[in-house]
Amino acid sequence: MAEVVLKSVAKVYDGGVRAVTDVNVTIHDKEFMVLVGPSGSGKSTALRMIAGLEGISEGEILIDGKVVNHLPPKLRDIAMVFQDYALYPHMNVFDNMAFGLKVQKYPMAEIRRRVDEAAAILELTHLLERKPKALSGGQRQRVAVGRAIVRKPKVFLFDEPLSNLDAKLRTQMRTEIKKIHARLGATIVYVTHDQIEAMTMGDRITVMDHGKVQQVDTPLNLYNKPANRFVAGFLGSPPMNFISCRVADENGTIYIDEGTAKLRVPARGADILRRAGRAGKDVILGVRPENIGDKLYTQPKYPDCVLTAVVDVVEPMGSEVYCLLKTERNNIQARFGGSSRVQPNQEIDVVIDLDAIHFFDPDSGVVLS
Ligand code: ADP
Repeated sequence: MAEVVLKSVAKVYDGGVRAVTDVNVTIHDKEFMVLVGPSGSGKSTALRMIAGLEGISEGEILIDGKVVNHLPPKLRDIAMVFQDYALYPHMNVFDNMAFGLKVQKYPMAEIRRRVDEAAAILELTHLLERKPKALSGGQRQRVAVGRAIVRKPKVFLFDEPLSNLDAKLRTQMRTEIKKIHARLGATIVYVTHDQIEAMTMGDRITVMDHGKVQQVDTPLNLYNKPANRFVAGFLGSPPMNFISCRVADENGTIYIDEGTAKLRVPARGADILRRAGRAGKDVILGVRPENIGDKLYTQPKYPDCVLTAVVDVVEPMGSEVYCLLKTERNNIQARFGGSSRVQPNQEIDVVIDLDAIHFFDPDSGVVLS
């Protein structure tokens, strides 16, 4: 298996579209790296450059320490699994999985051994004689993965492999691909626009927007320590609330004014705002829905951490309740426990967990830290 390194990589398509700019990422040996971002953020282009399906306009890509910029795909020792798995309809599962090896003239005994091994890993052994049309969506997806496994590549590349599956199957396949990763100890680069897939599958995640890397880190670090407003808003569902607040320094105590209520910022946040020179200026307060609690059931940790709001929309999800709240100035999404009985139009007090808030620069969106 192998390390994949992208050094100052850029892609400019004919016509001047800059799809990817200055990407610097190291994907470690045996790592499951997810590239995530909204549509058009450049993740497929980045993956296709690693695969050799797109030329690299600037920078270098190394696989296993070797620059591959000018190597054709078949010499890069990678295998790619696409969204539309493109199985050959007239071939059965065995032949679909064996096809690449046959083309490369592997001995039949070796082909049989590798296909049997992959089929066992993917629980396809009983389906080897079936044609693709007699398989479910999830089974076809597994065959596509099997086709990649039998080649024993240094690196697996996945491009939105689950987006054609229904929600339940997607969840199952997420787990299966994670298991396969653990079993093979493979280096995987996995592209998705789905933040839940990214969070649940990646050892680390590269978050992209507008062709640029926004942040690379473990799922939990990205969630808890986002580098900027884009990352903070992209990961998490419902997303983080962003509330424009005026910062005030009142005799050494730092407050942020939401418009209807003033929150007293505890020491750590106050230091951050002081250091950033925000007193008297605006700041974007970032607070996740789960860090806003109904005051009836939430013990405040600090003074001045309560907002009064009117309940606008209530969405019971079973184990929890999503609740859209309105203050005079802002719409705020909260997540309460499943037993919450809040009703639309009710006025409630909510406690903001001031240990879990973030501040962002209103102009650049960069987190203040
Ligand atoms: P993503 O995978 O994140 O949806 P892509 O890598 O497909 O993003 O696309 C990134 C940008 O490059 C988009 O603006 C897209 O329109 C553009 N793009 C992609 N492929 C081509 C191409 N063959 N020619 C010109 N522009 C392209």
